[in-house]
Amino acid sequence: MTQESEVPVLICGGGPVGLALAIELGLRGVECLLVEQGDGSVPVPKMSQLSTRTMEFCRRWGIAHQAKKAGWPEEHPADFIYVTSMVGYELFRQKFAPYAKQGDLGYTPEGPRQCPQIFFDPILLRHAASLPAVTMRHHTRLQSFEEDANGVHADLTSLETGRAETITANYLVGCDGFDGHVRKALKIEYEGSGILSYSVSIFFRSKSLGTLHNKGWGRFYRLVDASGHWSDLIAIDGQELWRLTCFHIDPEKDLGSLDVEALLIRAAGTAFSYEVLSVLPWKRRELVATTYGRGRVLIAGDAAHQMSPTGGIGMNTGIGDAVDIGWKLAAVLQGWGGPYLLESYEIERKPVAVSSVNVSSETYVHETSLPADPAIAENSAEGERARKQFAEALRGRRGQGKERLHEDVKLGYSYDGSPIIWPDETRAQATKDGNSILSCRSGSRAPHAWLGENISTLDLFGDGFVLLRFGQNIDASSIVAAAAARRVPLKIVDIESRAIAALYERKLVLVRPDGHVAWRADTCPDDALALIDRVRGDIEP
Ligand SMILES: Cc1cc2nc3c(=O)[nH]c(=O)nc-3n(C[C@H](O)[C@H](O)[C@H](O)COP(=O)(O)OP(=O)(O)OC[C@H]3O[C@@H](n4cnc5c(N)ncnc54)[C@H](O)[C@@H]3O)c2cc1C
Repeated sequence: MTQESEVPVLICGGGPVGLALAIELGLRGVECLLVEQGDGSVPVPKMSQLSTRTMEFCRRWGIAHQAKKAGWPEEHPADFIYVTSMVGYELFRQKFAPYAKQGDLGYTPEGPRQCPQIFFDPILLRHAASLPAVTMRHHTRLQSFEEDANGVHADLTSLETGRAETITANYLVGCDGFDGHVRKALKIEYEGSGILSYSVSIFFRSKSLGTLHNKGWGRFYRLVDASGHWSDLIAIDGQELWRLTCFHIDPEKDLGSLDVEALLIRAAGTAFSYEVLSVLPWKRRELVATTYGRGRVLIAGDAAHQMSPTGGIGMNTGIGDAVDIGWKLAAVLQGWGGPYLLESYEIERKPVAVSSVNVSSETYVHETSLPADPAIAENSAEGERARKQFAEALRGRRGQGKERLHEDVKLGYSYDGSPIIWPDETRAQATKDGNSILSCRSGSRAPHAWLGENISTLDLFGDGFVLLRFGQNIDASSIVAAAAARRVPLKIVDIESRAIAALYERKLVLVRPDGHVAWRADTCPDDALALIDRVRGDIEP
């Protein structure tokens, strides 16, 4: 017999994006059911670094300290080192200070952190499971669904017992990864150039690899030999776990014919002892879904976009999707979100995916088109010349000390064209890597500043809307009354610091639950109800 039950939100997929959405909803007290066909374990450390923005979300969720402790020894340098092999020549080094020595980054309370998915997903899972509003079922597959006026009716099957169940949900979110069932059932296509290349990642354990060379610890060892840049070796835990990702694998060859030992020895430049933990062939894709959902069914994460991991943006973009849709679903279910609020999800998040995909592909093309020279690993004058030439070419393209790699894409994105953002009267400045981060224009992430010891402005945001007021004599009563009339959760926070007032540039700044600026001005608008209706999605785009 098929069992039937109801839930406000059904999440299909328990990867990092589904788990992040469960946390966003759970922290807001919105009941959700997450179904995951697997057992929740992560066999391969795919994502390696949490972006600044993801770390800021982790801070809000109360798990940043766990992410910091999980993956990477704080005192290890996190350099990117170009080598002919681990025991071969060092060609170029992009320095990244050890986390322990990074100090205050100024633009964020939480800088990016190495915390590969084998560590990060279990942290998310434990946190989601601890929230009373979240129910999780592993070994459970979403088989099909239909939508009608009453909601989405989803058929689930337990892969352990075979038991079938129908769940009726107000909303279904497909966080079911690339080519997931939810997107396909909605007949949503992907657009983009598709497959860029075929790669294979070899996850292995070796205690000796970290010390058999003279390069010291780095996060990335980029391997460049006579054939050019052929692979990346990533130190996963800064101790004994490694991932070698080889580019340009022949898709016609089956995995069995892959000479894993030869690849590992080529990377090390010598024989060494190791234990292979898993081998993952995968396709490097460049795709974004044409639309992010239909009706009561939405998609997020890899289900909505696929990009080359170069740049480390894929999962981090998906986490941003979960945060955007999380507060909006909560608002609609709690009765204060307007009828157009959910429409703004795609409008805000798809452009972020498009720019993430583009920059990821650019980085991939850049990395794999570095000049190859047959002499590069030779112990000769010719080899010396080739190595010098390579380093100069790289220095010219990359520049020294550019530590905030892609921060404008990962952190500096703005929702300024969104229908639920009140347009800013200032013009957007052209973004420059690492310099777009402190904008306070409407649509931007409200900037970080320290309010007290380890208390950031960012710590004010998350629950409802926050109206920052820089001057207690400023009348904010019409906005407060409008929010109350529409049952929009709003609190006023008075800030006395002149430095923060200068950073925020206006005397009143309205910040959304996801930490983006919705509106700013020096006085209340003439029609505060129109403002509140706009930011809660009650005005047709
Ligand atoms: C080699 C490699 C390196 C990477 N490096 C980085 C990086 O450095 N930085 C970065 O940000 N990203 C990186 N990524 C990308 C990152 O791994 C993905 O973006 C991320 O895993 C996507 O998360 P997700 O939750 O959207 O999807 P997934 O992780 O794919 O999870 C989807 C889940 O849905 C479940 N599921 C599917 N269908 C159903 C169904 N019908 N019913 C129930 N469950 C279902 C699946 O079992 C799966 O667990 C990398 C990827 C690869 C391959």
